[in-house]
Amino acid sequence: MTADIPDWIRLEKALEIEAQQGFSDLMGRQYRFSEFLSLTFGQFPPGIATIERRRWQELAARFANYPSLSPDERQHLVNHTRRYIEYLQKPPSPHPSPTSPGNKSQYQKKLHPTTPVVEEVSRRLAPKLDDQLSQLAEIGSRQADKLARLGLFTVRDLLFYYPRDHIDYARQVCIRELQPGETVTIIATVKSCNCFTSPKNKKLTILELQLRDNTGRIKINRFFAGSRYTSRGWQESLKRRYSPGTTLAACGLVKQTKYNMMTLEEPELEVLAGPGDAIESLTIGRVVPIYSLTEGVVANVVRNAVIACLPATINLKDPLPHGLREKYRLMELKDAIQNIHFPKDNEYLQAARRRLVFDEFFYLQLGLLQRQQKAKQIQTSAILAPKGELIDRFYEILPFQLTGAQQRVVNEILNDLQKPTPMNRLVQGDVGSGKTVVAVIATLAAIQSGYQAALMAPTEVLAEQHYRKLVSWFNLLHLPVELLTGSTRAAKRREIHAQLETGQLPLLVGTHALIQDPVNFQQLGLVVIDEQHRFGVEQRAKLQQKGIQPHVLTMTATPIPRTLALTIHGDLDVSQIDELPPGRQAITTTVLTNSQRPEAYDLIRREIAQGRQVYVVLPLVEESEKLDLRSATEEHRKLQESIFPEYKVGLLHGRMSSAEKDAAISQFRQQETHILVSTTVVEVGVDVPNATVMLIEHAERFGLSQLHQLRGRVGRGAAKSYCLLMNSSRSPEAQQRLKVLEQSQDGFFISEMDMRFRGPGEVLGTRQSGVPDFTLASLVEDEEILTLARQAAEKIIELDTTLERWFLMKEELKLRYTRLMGGAILT
Ligand code: ADP
Ligand code: MG
Repeated sequence: MTADIPDWIRLEKALEIEAQQGFSDLMGRQYRFSEFLSLTFGQFPPGIATIERRRWQELAARFANYPSLSPDERQHLVNHTRRYIEYLQKPPSPHPSPTSPGNKSQYQKKLHPTTPVVEEVSRRLAPKLDDQLSQLAEIGSRQADKLARLGLFTVRDLLFYYPRDHIDYARQVCIRELQPGETVTIIATVKSCNCFTSPKNKKLTILELQLRDNTGRIKINRFFAGSRYTSRGWQESLKRRYSPGTTLAACGLVKQTKYNMMTLEEPELEVLAGPGDAIESLTIGRVVPIYSLTEGVVANVVRNAVIACLPATINLKDPLPHGLREKYRLMELKDAIQNIHFPKDNEYLQAARRRLVFDEFFYLQLGLLQRQQKAKQIQTSAILAPKGELIDRFYEILPFQLTGAQQRVVNEILNDLQKPTPMNRLVQGDVGSGKTVVAVIATLAAIQSGYQAALMAPTEVLAEQHYRKLVSWFNLLHLPVELLTGSTRAAKRREIHAQLETGQLPLLVGTHALIQDPVNFQQLGLVVIDEQHRFGVEQRAKLQQKGIQPHVLTMTATPIPRTLALTIHGDLDVSQIDELPPGRQAITTTVLTNSQRPEAYDLIRREIAQGRQVYVVLPLVEESEKLDLRSATEEHRKLQESIFPEYKVGLLHGRMSSAEKDAAISQFRQQETHILVSTTVVEVGVDVPNATVMLIEHAERFGLSQLHQLRGRVGRGAAKSYCLLMNSSRSPEAQQRLKVLEQSQDGFFISEMDMRFRGPGEVLGTRQSGVPDFTLASLVEDEEILTLARQAAEKIIELDTTLERWFLMKEELKLRYTRLMGGAILT
């Protein structure tokens, strides 16, 4: 996709009006006069003669500099340009005018094809990608200082500083014509402006504008969250910017308010210079970029700088081979960069975005796949036998048959274990899908081949629970197994260390402590990690330092959407246990409001009367452990003293010592307590099959996946189970979100919805979750592009892992990967 022939008539009109208005650099509907001219000359028509190309570049640069010219200089430049355009349209040769209809190809013929030598000349004229912005005459050191505040230092930085949105002036309508559901732009005058701190939320600043055009009035609001906006000075500066009488463009989605008025939702605002007539007269361009700005850096500083830098795209070589671009219908990089900033129209904008989103995904996948390939070059000493006596005996003592999904995943794992490269596999399986059995079979494969295995859990509670289950199975197989956690006594600890070193102990269960110093295995063949997001690069490095390259199996009960999985686990092999063991009953889930609390308590009494048990879970309030503690202990007291004095109520929270936690859980397990009040400590893996009710307070504060996890604590036995979600929020969104859990018990579906409601970072539970910061790409919206990018990256890696064949791509990967993954990846 290349630039078309400019609209000469519009160009001439713009020049004419600028001259009539005294060379005041008029603000048009979309661009300032100088921006429009600079943009127009910055994009050459295809096949233009090199000599003309240089002139166009010069003009682009001179118009970018137009605002700083004196009136005389402006006049000179405008006149010169008008003559030049005249010349272009009526060339001295007998060729027909380029604007006459149907002769586009003749126009192109007129322009001689470029010769490489002369192209080099124009390339030298354009700014270099690595030029400092301060070196560019159109920018200068003052503006460059401002841009530096946005982290922009070089031409390249600026070209890749994508706008966060665009104002589409092609969709301009009058206020009277506003229709809900449409995204439009209005041009109106500020009637009144107010800016204040929200009375309900001290950290929220509200800008309230009354706008008017010839056809009507409209009230719009903008919200600024965060304490840096609440200062008086900042609010006053907004009031000045939008003072009554100012002409504004406002762009956004039309919505109907409660009072049947129209408004624009979170509109983009832009102050226009001129009154109505100036705007009417310059119908130029269509879509204008909106950049993220910072204090003291106004929109036009960035726009003008971008315009000055755009000619540098001529130096931008596309790292993606032509064939690949063709195959995936991708715009060329330099066109994409031009059009992401100043698109010719919406279609070009979409094509540019598609290309750049593809790039964001593609390089990440390339990096992940390269890492995967590198890992596969490592040798492991532990080549394990998939068949053997231990596994056979285990199948005999197992009281049930593996589900089809379990069997499939077991086969995938056993297949990995026979290879000379270490396994790096992630098993995803919904709560209760039976991951533990699968893990046990893997450990048996290691043991029967003469190796040791380690099973790690994220908490002592879970480690202990695994240990309990494994002891019962391993006893039947006459195999020793030990538990090692922070609470293991010194004497026992020494004994375990000794047994590990001699190889006497084939399986050790524990927390992360068990791969740390001074634990030395005689021959560690397999590490299984349960309920942990993943086995990190550092942990593997730690083992490497000990001279071992064990197979690693990671298990997670938090299914995540496919796009997210590819993004953060793109370098792992992934298996899914997508089937539950037979006979599981659906857990009846109900969203309740506070007024329905008595119903919840009735249900709890009924269940306890039948010998069942109950969890009551409280959220972490504001992530402060102190508050967390108080809310749990207070709720505990309330339930024990006023609501359920006839029952025994236990308490479990993160601030308790391991011994206290163990005690609380074992009392619950042994049915000494009927109700366990807990923070999210019980979220993962706790297994008490007699519990049938899960009551979650302030359910609206949790993510859906987390609620699904919590719900998985019940329904583990044969009895019917219930999950009660107390919704204390009145927001319709919270209600809608929680309803998802009433309707579904499919962890994948739920996590997909969770991501849609809250974004990818939140789905993983923590903000620093390793989701790369994409600039344009969205894991919610761009699944299709991600799939293509993954495909393309796989193909490339298959052809040449080292990327030697594609030097530019390799360089680009280095640049991008450091940014996306915080570095340290390609080492
Ligand atoms: P999770 O995947 O949540 O870790 P577990 O491994 O704890 O699940 O298994 C949940 C329960 O289901 C356990 O009591 C386990 O013994 C049982 N289970 C596992 N696989 C099967 C199966 N194929 N048939 C019947 N019950 C099974
Ligand atoms: Mg489990």
